[in-house]
Amino acid sequence: MKQRRLGVRCLRRALILCLTAPGLLGARVQPTHGFNMFSAQEELKAGQQAAQQVEKQLPVLPDSDPVTKYVQNLGVHLAAHAPGEKWPYTFHVVNQKEINAFALPGGPVFVNLGTIQAADNEAELAGVMAHEISHVVQRHGTRAASKQIAAELPIALLGGLLGRGALSQMAQLGLSFGAGSYLLKNSRQSEREADLLGADIMYDAGYDPHQMANFFRKIQAEGGSRAPQFLSDHPDPGNRFEYVSKEASTLPSKKYRADGGEFQNVKQLVAGMKPLTAQQIAAQQRGQGEVTGGNVTPSPSMKTLEHDVFSISYPENWQVYGDRSSAVTIAPADGISQNAIAYGAMISVYQPENTYAGLDTNTHELMASLKQSNPDLRLVGRDEDIRVDGAPGKSADLIGSSPIKDSQGSVTRERDWLVTFVRRDGSLLYVVFIAPDQDFSQLRPTFEQMLRSLRVK
Ligand code: ZN
Repeated sequence: MKQRRLGVRCLRRALILCLTAPGLLGARVQPTHGFNMFSAQEELKAGQQAAQQVEKQLPVLPDSDPVTKYVQNLGVHLAAHAPGEKWPYTFHVVNQKEINAFALPGGPVFVNLGTIQAADNEAELAGVMAHEISHVVQRHGTRAASKQIAAELPIALLGGLLGRGALSQMAQLGLSFGAGSYLLKNSRQSEREADLLGADIMYDAGYDPHQMANFFRKIQAEGGSRAPQFLSDHPDPGNRFEYVSKEASTLPSKKYRADGGEFQNVKQLVAGMKPLTAQQIAAQQRGQGEVTGGNVTPSPSMKTLEHDVFSISYPENWQVYGDRSSAVTIAPADGISQNAIAYGAMISVYQPENTYAGLDTNTHELMASLKQSNPDLRLVGRDEDIRVDGAPGKSADLIGSSPIKDSQGSVTRERDWLVTFVRRDGSLLYVVFIAPDQDFSQLRPTFEQMLRSLRVK
């Protein structure tokens, strides 16, 4: 919580002394702590594993790139002023157009090139980076993961996972911190904490914290296709501009760093670069995994999967990927590759931000989260109320891009049928039935049969 140290001694001395030693005086936000199942070592390991995954999933510029070098220098300077545990921070630039940045547990910070293109001065960029550093300081990622593990405690208990360490529990529950993971989607409370601590860090590093507020306001105003990604990962708690400005005004004014030639050079460099859109990156990812789409016809005879939290019947010639305690995919072998699924069903549990928000709100929150890994996913028509195993549920049809290419090599449309319903603990159990749009109606009877067989334990 916030503690203010009054500069009593300062008041007795000449004002000029106070102005020259602002770091020792004035208001300071203290980093928050919370329930966390991860040891410091696990925190580091989780971040490193996720960083490796991110390097595979996203077009990260090499460390030798001049833009990366600049961001690294700025990051190291900011991190030197971060309070709390000294995590080994690393800084990376993603060659992506949308304005965004994210931080992984234990130090890796990623900034999209679009963020640098959008920053009008170094302080604005420093604000975004100080915000990310503040997520690391306050261990927001592993705190969110710990909450999720605790929410899935019955599965952890059944799976004999307790006492095995937070990282292995996470893996068993099918949770990860990779790019697009909903664990990187911060709660509004975490956002507020990162904003306030970030404002202090950038101030201590010599930047005007009002510029953080300005940049957030700019993102909000920009709207359009570039901005929402940042706001989706870092949602505005409601009055961001006001409370950041207020925090900034509690700090004694001082002479802030002016933009040096380095910032101008980098601005010029990035102005000439053409970063990829989220959509292009997703298409490239799908291109890496080849789905043959060969024999995907479901066998009429069915088998039953006994999972720890549900049971479901599925065509005998399809396979189950995942184990009985994690998220599973049920698909024909030819309909799936290592990183893409073109035919089949995915069944998983989603932990909403607020379990009491209701099925409707939480289903939409889940859709927003699914959209992060499939940016071109969109709802067709309206979602409908249905019953699943006697419980109220929601059904929604979505359209996205299929990993199956047509004969000309172009992307084809995919239909995703999403079904959600609330579990006793307030989390959502959801199923996504997937097929290329042109094949969906052929598979619908099989999908319906699977859904009718679904029983929750
Ligand atoms: Zn954030």
